[in-house]
Order: sequence, then structure tokens, then C-alpha cells
Amino acid sequence: MKRILGSGLCACGDCHFEVLNSSLFVHCCHCTYCQRQTGSAFALNAMVESSAIKLTQGDTENFEVSTASGKGQNICRCSRCKTALWSHYGAAGHAIAFVRVGTLQDTDIEPDVHIYTSSKASWVRVPENARSFEEYYNPREEWPEDAQARFKVLQAKG
Ligand SMILES: [Zn+2]
Ligand SMILES: [Zn+2]
Repeated sequence: MKRILGSGLCACGDCHFEVLNSSLFVHCCHCTYCQRQTGSAFALNAMVESSAIKLTQGDTENFEVSTASGKGQNICRCSRCKTALWSHYGAAGHAIAFVRVGTLQDTDIEPDVHIYTSSKASWVRVPENARSFEEYYNPREEWPEDAQARFKVLQAKG
């Protein structure tokens, strides 16, 4: 059973938020866009319904950037320190948010899948039992049934 993602905050502490649901699926993305945007080797994103995120303090602003899929992503950042808190990918739509796991109070969240490992840093070792893909994957094949059911509810809402 996955746990509720819970509270998070930005680097300056102006923005506080609550994620009131468990993750649908967690990506560890090794693509070059995520590497550049984070200044690190990969990005860790927990997908959840956007409606499950409540900003409880502070102000955010949105920035559009390009992605490996070519469809772009809209990143929600703290207006003051510009820490990226979550984003909406063009491919998945605004109903789903990709929460930056490092902004949560509890950051110890293991990815469900490693993606774009074709550009993974050579020193990063993907665990042997982990699912990994050189590029993207088919959610219908990899997502657990409860996550697929939650996704269908979002699609039905439009
Ligand atoms: Zn901030
Ligand atoms: Zn990426």
C-alpha cells in the first residue's frame, strides 16, 4: 500500500503545500532535459492528481520549458526562490502533476521506473530488480491497476 505523499516546501520556505494522495507512479528520469533543469544526474517525480495538491502558503508562478517528448512541460515554481515544486507535462495534461520528490518533507520515495536510461550517467547504478527503459514506456503495461483506474477517472472528467 502506497502512502500519502504529504507535505512539502520550497528552498526559501515561502511555499508550503500538501499532497493529499499517494503517488500514481514515480519516475526517475535520466533524460538530458531533466539533467539540465535540475543541474544533476536525474529527476525524481511522483505523479499525482493535480487536484490532490493544495498550496497552503506562498505564491507560485508557471514556466514553460521543453522536454524529451517534444510536448513541453509547465513547471510550477515558488515566486520568490523559484524552486520547482511540480510540473504538468504536455503529454499527460494538466490533470496530472509531477511532484519533485526532493521538495517533500519525506524524500525517501523509491522510483517505480527508470526512464531515458540511454542518457543515464555511467556511475548511476539502477537496481537489478528495477524496471528501466532506454526511452519512454507504455503506462498501460507498467502502471498498477489502481493507478490506471485513477487515471481513467481523470480522463473521464476531461
Ligand atoms: Zn521559495
Ligand atoms: Zn526527463
